[in-house]
Amino acid sequence: MEHLLNEKHHLVRKTLAEFALKEVKPYAKVIDEQETFPNETVKKMAKMHLFGLPFSTEHHGAGGDTVSYAIAVMELSKVCATTGVILSAHTSLCAEPIYRWGTESQKKRYLPDLLSGKKLGAFGLTEPNAGTDAGAQKTKAIEHDDHYILHGSKIFITNAGEADVYIISAMTEPNEKHKGMSLFIVEGDTPGFSVGKKELKLGIRASSTKELILNRVKVPKENLLGKKNKGFMMALETLAGGRIGIAAQAVGIAEGAIEQALNYTSQRKQFGKSILSFQNTQFVLAELETKKEAAKQLLFKAAKYKDLGMPYAKEAAMAKLFAGETATEVTQKALQLFGGYGYTREYDIERMMRDAKITEIYEGTNEAQKMVIANSMMKGVKS
Ligand SMILES: Cc1cc2nc3c(=O)[nH]c(=O)nc-3n(C[C@H](O)[C@H](O)[C@H](O)COP(=O)(O)OP(=O)(O)OC[C@H]3O[C@@H](n4cnc5c(N)ncnc54)[C@H](O)[C@@H]3O)c2cc1C
Repeated sequence: MEHLLNEKHHLVRKTLAEFALKEVKPYAKVIDEQETFPNETVKKMAKMHLFGLPFSTEHHGAGGDTVSYAIAVMELSKVCATTGVILSAHTSLCAEPIYRWGTESQKKRYLPDLLSGKKLGAFGLTEPNAGTDAGAQKTKAIEHDDHYILHGSKIFITNAGEADVYIISAMTEPNEKHKGMSLFIVEGDTPGFSVGKKELKLGIRASSTKELILNRVKVPKENLLGKKNKGFMMALETLAGGRIGIAAQAVGIAEGAIEQALNYTSQRKQFGKSILSFQNTQFVLAELETKKEAAKQLLFKAAKYKDLGMPYAKEAAMAKLFAGETATEVTQKALQLFGGYGYTREYDIERMMRDAKITEIYEGTNEAQKMVIANSMMKGVKS
C-alpha cells in the first residue's frame, strides 16, 4: 500500500517527520510530566496549516487528503501521541462534520478559523452513563422559538477547555433513544457552557480530557448540524472517520517504539556484545515490525477508501482495532528489550507504553470495533 503513496504524501511525511523531530519531540517528555497542553506547538502546527490538512482550499483547507492527514497524525504520534490526538480530534471530530453536513452559512462561519488553526475543535458525545451505548445519553435539547436549550453534561472530552468550537450531541426526542439524537455546533464562550473536572490519566497526559457542563445553554436553531434527530447516524459516521486518525496515532506510536528499541539494543552491551546481536532480540523486533507494517496497510487502505468516496466504516474499524492492539503489544515488548532502564522515566519507551493503551479505548473500544466489523460482515447473511 505504501508504494501507492504519491509525491505529495511523501512530502507530507518528510515535512512532518522534520517538524516532529525539531518542534515536538524535545517537549514530549516535559509536557507529559507536567500534564500541560502544548499551546506553543499547536500554534506552530497552525502555521503549517495542519489543522486544515484534508480539506479543500475553497473552505480554507490545505487541499490534502485523508492519506496525508493519516501520515501527519502518524509522524506526530511517533514522537508524541498527545500532539497526534489534538490534531485528530480537531480534524475528524469537529471540522469534518461541519465540512460534511454544515450549511453554507455554518461553513462560512466556522471553517475558516477551524481549518486555519486559529480556533480548535472538540466533540462531545460521551456521558457518564452513555459510553459504548451512546444512544443512552441524557443531555437534552429543548426547542424554543428560534433556539434550543441544551442541558446536561459530557465526560472525557478531548481538547475540552482548549477548544473554541464544540460538536455536541443532545436528545431532541428523549423517548426515541438514538432516533431522537441531534448534533449542535456550540461555541465555547456561550453562557451556561463550562468546563468541569480534568481527568488525570495513564497516558496522553498533556492532552486535555475534561468534563463539559451544559447549564441551560441557548443555542440558535441555525447551529443545528444536519437534520434534526439524525445525530446518531452522523455521530457514527464521524467516529468512522475519527478511527482513521486513532489508527494513525497507534501506528505512529508503534513505529516510534520500534525505532527506539532498535537504537537502544544496538548500543546496550551484555555478555560482551550488543543485545541486538542476540537472535531473540532480532526475532522480537522482526515480529513487531511485521505487525506494525500490517497495521499501516490497514490504515492506508481505510484512508484511501475514504478519499475514493467508497464505504470505509469496516476498514476504519479494522485499522483501529488492529493498530491499537499492535501499539499496545509493540510498546510492551519494546520496553522489555530495554530491561530495567525501560521501566525508568529516563527513556521515552515507558511513556509510549502508557500512551498506546488509549488507542484501544477511545472512539470506540476494541469490542465496539468488533461489533462494527461483524455487523458489516453479517449484512445480507440470513441467520
Ligand atoms: C482519554 C480519553 C479521551 C476521550 N475523548 C473523547 C472525546 O473527545 N469525545 C467523546 O465523546 N468521548 C471521548 N472519550 C470517551 C470514549 O470514547 C469512551 O470512553 C469509550 O467509547 C468507552 O466508553 P466507556 O468509557 O463509557 O466504557 P463502557 O461503554 O462502560 O465500556 C466498558 C467495557 O465494556 C465493554 N462493552 C460495553 N458494551 C459492550 C457490548 N455491547 N459488548 C461487549 N462489550 C461491551 C467495552 O468494550 C469496555 O471494555 C474519551 C475517553 C478517554 C479515556
